[in-house]
Amino acid sequence: MSRAPSAIVIGLGAVGSACAAALASVGCRVTAIGDPRRSTTRRSGGYLLLQSKFPGPLLDLAARSLELFDDLAREAPHLGYRRTGSLLLAADESEAARLHVRVRALRQAGVPLQWLDGDTLRRIQPGLSTAVDAGSFCPLDGQIEPSALAEHWRHVLLKRGGQIVESPLSELDAEPAGGFRAVGPEVDVRGELVVLAGGPWSPPLAANLGLTLDIQPRRGWLFRAVADRPIASCPLLGGDYLAAKSSTRAYEVAFNLQQFSSGEVVLGGTREFVGFSEAGGEEARREVLRVAARYVEGLDRLEWDSGAAGFRPWAPCPYLGRTEVAGCYLACGFEGDGVTLSAAAAERIAMQVVEDGLTTA
Ligand SMILES: Cc1cc2nc3c(=O)[nH]c(=O)nc-3n(C[C@H](O)[C@H](O)[C@H](O)COP(=O)(O)OP(=O)(O)OC[C@H]3O[C@@H](n4cnc5c(N)ncnc54)[C@H](O)[C@@H]3O)c2cc1C
Repeated sequence: MSRAPSAIVIGLGAVGSACAAALASVGCRVTAIGDPRRSTTRRSGGYLLLQSKFPGPLLDLAARSLELFDDLAREAPHLGYRRTGSLLLAADESEAARLHVRVRALRQAGVPLQWLDGDTLRRIQPGLSTAVDAGSFCPLDGQIEPSALAEHWRHVLLKRGGQIVESPLSELDAEPAGGFRAVGPEVDVRGELVVLAGGPWSPPLAANLGLTLDIQPRRGWLFRAVADRPIASCPLLGGDYLAAKSSTRAYEVAFNLQQFSSGEVVLGGTREFVGFSEAGGEEARREVLRVAARYVEGLDRLEWDSGAAGFRPWAPCPYLGRTEVAGCYLACGFEGDGVTLSAAAAERIAMQVVEDGLTTA
C-alpha cells in the first residue's frame, strides 16, 4: 500500500483514544468518533494493578501496559501516574487464607508480591482498622487519572494529524467494495479499516458488521471526598475484591480506595448487572461505606459526594484484535481493567494492522 490508509476508531474512552493515537503513529489517517454522552472512562477509578489479575494473558498485557505508562509519564507528567504499589487487605482469617493462595500463584507467575502482617500494614498505612491482620503488597502497581490519560492520547492523535468527531453513530456498515462507513448526525466518514472500542455500547455497532459480542454493562458506583490528611498512599483494596470482580452474580460490593496528590479520595465500589440504570446512589453509598469500615477507620467522617455510576464493559473475556471481517478490529469488553490495559491493547491493535499490511509503516 503506497499511501496512508484511512482508519475509523469508534470510541474516545481510554481504549479508543489509545488505539487512535497508536494507529496514527503507524501511519494511518485516523478519524476517531465518540458520543459525548457516553463514557466509562470519565467515571472510572485509576488503579493500574497486576495483583488483581490471574496468571495468564491479561496479566501479561497489564504488565506491558505498565511499562508503556512508565515511558508515557516521562513525556506527560500531568497524568497523575505513579508506581505507588497497591495493598490487598484481609480483614479476617478466611479472607487472609484465600488471599494467600493467590499470592503464591502470582509469585509463581513472576509478580513480586510481599506478604505483610497487620502491624506492619498499620505502620505503612496508619488509618487501617485493627481488624486488618494481613495483606499483600505489589510494588509494581500504580495509579493514574483516567480522564487525563484519555485526553492525552486524543492530544497525541491530533498532533499526528488525526481528527476527532464528537457525535453518536447511527450506522456502521461494511461497504460492498471494501472498507467501512460510519454515519451519525455530525459525521459521515469512510475508512479502509475500523477499530471498535465502544466500551459497553459496542454490541449493537458490532452487530451491524455481523459480529456478535457478549458484552454487558456492569454498573459501579464511585464516591469522592476531599481529605486534608493522607489516607491511602497507594490503592487499597479489600481481600474480597478479587472474588467480587470475577463473580457473575447480579450484585457484588467490595472495598477499594484511592487518593490523589490533590487530597481527593475515591471510594468504591459495587458491581451490578442492572443495565444502564443510574438509580440507587444513596443506598450504594451506605453499603460501600459499611464495607469500607472493615478496612479503614473514619471514612464515614468525610463528606462524600452523591456518587457517579459508570458501566464497566463486562465480557467473559475481552475482545482484542482482528476479526473475521477483514479490516475490522475489536478493542472492547475490558470490564474493570480498561484503563490499565489501554496502552498495551492499543499497541497490539497497531501491530496487527501493520502485520496485516494495511499501513505504510
Ligand atoms: C466504577 C468503575 C471503576 C473502575 N476502575 C477502574 C480502575 O481502577 N482501573 C481500570 O483499569 N479500569 C477501571 N474501570 C474500568 C474502566 O473504566 C473501563 O474498562 C474503561 O473505561 C473502558 O474504556 P473504553 O474506552 O473501552 O470504554 P469507554 O470509556 O466507555 O468509551 C467508549 C467510547 O465509545 C463511544 N461510543 C459508544 N457507542 C457509541 C456510538 N453508538 N456512537 C458514538 N460513540 C459511541 C463512547 O462515546 C465512548 O467514547 C472502572 C470502571 C468503573 C465503572
